[in-house]
Amino acid sequence: MPDEYDRRTAVTRIAVSESDRELLEQTITEWKRACQLAADLVWNRAQSRETVRRGEVQSLTYDEIRNRTSVGSQHAILATRRAADAIASCLEQRARGKRTSKPQFTAPTVTYDQRSMTMFDDGSVSLATVEDRIQCQLVLPKDDSGYQHQFLDSDDWTLTESTLTVRDSDFYLHLGFRRPLTDTRTAENGTVLGVDLGVENVAVTSTAKFYSGSRLNHRRDEFERVRGSLQRCGTRSARRTLKRVGGRQRRYTDDVLHRVSNGIVAEALRYDCTAIAVENLDDIKERLPNASWFHMWAFRRVIGQLEYKCRERGIRLVKVNPEHTSQRCAECGHSSSANRPSRDRFRCERCGNRGNADYNAAKNIGFRYVRRGQQPSRRTGHRQLALKSGTVSPNGEFDAYPDGFEDEFTDKLRSESSARNT
Ligand SMILES: [Zn+2]
Repeated sequence: MPDEYDRRTAVTRIAVSESDRELLEQTITEWKRACQLAADLVWNRAQSRETVRRGEVQSLTYDEIRNRTSVGSQHAILATRRAADAIASCLEQRARGKRTSKPQFTAPTVTYDQRSMTMFDDGSVSLATVEDRIQCQLVLPKDDSGYQHQFLDSDDWTLTESTLTVRDSDFYLHLGFRRPLTDTRTAENGTVLGVDLGVENVAVTSTAKFYSGSRLNHRRDEFERVRGSLQRCGTRSARRTLKRVGGRQRRYTDDVLHRVSNGIVAEALRYDCTAIAVENLDDIKERLPNASWFHMWAFRRVIGQLEYKCRERGIRLVKVNPEHTSQRCAECGHSSSANRPSRDRFRCERCGNRGNADYNAAKNIGFRYVRRGQQPSRRTGHRQLALKSGTVSPNGEFDAYPDGFEDEFTDKLRSESSARNT
């Protein structure tokens, strides 16, 4: 049965006073003990079984947990559930022929639910501990740009089970949210952002956002030169320098790529997109013969970053068949290699549509996914493609954004659409 909820996690640090810090650390320690105790108590009995139920583990272990640890009543219940789930998963793996052993609870975390944690409108949170509740302030990004706000400030998303964890002596809450799946935000619906990944431009979106590859390519050439001359030296100090240069190159490249993936996700949020479509680059060598090992590494990196950044923000990342996306005309659908007089330029030999080739490709990529939702057998798709000036439905109908949506707008598409609309 499909999950009837969309689920997301928002991570935030919390500010904790010195005395509260001690209480939270004790709570984590006692929570781990409580989970372990519950697992220890039912492990032997569970050996002859196919599975264990939460209620059963709770009735067998709750009193012992209250007697032998200092967790409160709600945390005792949550610990019995945590242990029951861990054992059930062990038994399930064993049934599939895997070797398993008794669960050990060592991670520095503790689970919270609506009864042990309360969120307030002023951005503070109250947390149950081994003694009294404490109240802490969430440390969110200063402006409203933090993605956490879309969950915290929304009536659609409800807080569910969350996890408190400590890392480098800072405390973080992994806040679990859920909302019911609705008709307008399912896989078959919503607005799609098309993204073309390439060499000259790292990425171009169907909303005409360009991320130039020049900074990346220029730096890469520089590094390659240094690497080449150092490699020829072959001395130990040259190898050390090489390693350092390699690390620096990697960090620099990663930084550039993170800006690109952050920008793409921001663009999707700005245009209220539910999905981002990229090309399936499994056969990247054939698609981009001039892509070096470096570019292939960079593509995989951007897609990997997009995967988790999209997940965090409730956007689907989908991969479409890359065939002809660079040769097809996004306006009239005519596909021919003659449409590409040069690497950068696109000029349709049938309808005369002209423009940047990567931008044309980004629209094709997005549109391919829009069309995929439009299979007549299902009759459920209401997807549309996000352009800079408006959206396009699967049958090509253009719907302009309200006036003033983008003041600095100078794109060809809008002049065309306003001509069409008047
Ligand atoms: Zn055309």
